[in-house]
Amino acid sequence: MFSFAVDVLAGRARAGRLLTPHGAVDTPAFMPVGTAGAVKAVTPRDLHEVGAQIVLANTYHLMLRPGDELVAELGGLHGFTGWRGPWLTDSGGYQVMSLAKLRTLDEEGVTFRSHLDGTEYVLTPERSMQVQMNLGADIVMAFDECPMLPAPRDVVAAAAARTTRWAERSRRAHTRRDQWLFGIVQGGVDAELRERSARELVAQDFPGYAVGGLAVGEAKPDTMRVVAQMDRLLPEDRPRYLMGVGTPADLVEAVARGIDLFDCVLPTRNARNGQLFTRHGRLSIRNARYRRDPRPPDPGCSCPTCTTASRAYLRHLHLAGEMTAATLMTVHNLFFYLDTLRNMRQSIVLGRFEEFRGEMLRALSAAADGVDS
Ligand SMILES: [Zn+2]
Repeated sequence: MFSFAVDVLAGRARAGRLLTPHGAVDTPAFMPVGTAGAVKAVTPRDLHEVGAQIVLANTYHLMLRPGDELVAELGGLHGFTGWRGPWLTDSGGYQVMSLAKLRTLDEEGVTFRSHLDGTEYVLTPERSMQVQMNLGADIVMAFDECPMLPAPRDVVAAAAARTTRWAERSRRAHTRRDQWLFGIVQGGVDAELRERSARELVAQDFPGYAVGGLAVGEAKPDTMRVVAQMDRLLPEDRPRYLMGVGTPADLVEAVARGIDLFDCVLPTRNARNGQLFTRHGRLSIRNARYRRDPRPPDPGCSCPTCTTASRAYLRHLHLAGEMTAATLMTVHNLFFYLDTLRNMRQSIVLGRFEEFRGEMLRALSAAADGVDS
């Protein structure tokens, strides 16, 4: 039902394939973020059109609304939403820390009030597993504690140690054989804590591992140092998922350090704010210079938006507050991310990943004519 294999290695970059009960995922892969069971502004048809192979949903949001039992009753995420391909759910831990009110955290779990209506909830490793089994994603995550950085070393150490104990409880509570449960490595940017966390989780023998606790306020060189360290410590034959990262440049740098899976809100959130990702950097559609610009967002892009819409039109729709602006720009940004990873994978297969990496980083840093940065 599940398998993962690395087919080609180029340096430390890996081209692989993840098989799930709802379809295959070619890695390295980017997972669009479908917070409450939908990727904001787009439909499942759009997701197929841009080539998405797996979508992420947030446990925290869905347990609050509409409730995981209702989702289970209506066929889980695959039956309830229109996306029939692979799903991944996060553990809820990160969003409890970033969104919920009046949290109290102890060894048992987290008690918090919903940011929607103040209702009190308790999220424990066991409850997170129950919710994720109800949601029915193909890949689910162990419940973890993710401290925001910078944080004192003892806080990061305690969170990492607790994450190990919660991973063990998550494993015991998780009983669905048609789901893969991944462990999450914590430890901030401290090499010793990261190593300890990785070794303890690897000893628990998860089918895949996530690198959590990054993109939470640390400096970029620290992020990549930790990723490279994880490459040395995590088993080669298991998928590695870097949570919440990042920009196109981050993706190629993390792939160069052995990462297989990514999720990030940047392409979708920035699209709604009028920012487009292109191979030559970012383009802010509000900029007055695009008022009469008949060119597509990225002349080299073959996405449904670039083949039909001009910068001038998108700027007009965005400034007029038309919902279509968000849809068209989300389609482009997702296509750009997914296409970048498809090309990256191809370059690994062809043995020219290092050239691809160099060309991509050069193009991103050299602001081209008509693009802001
Ligand atoms: Zn495009």
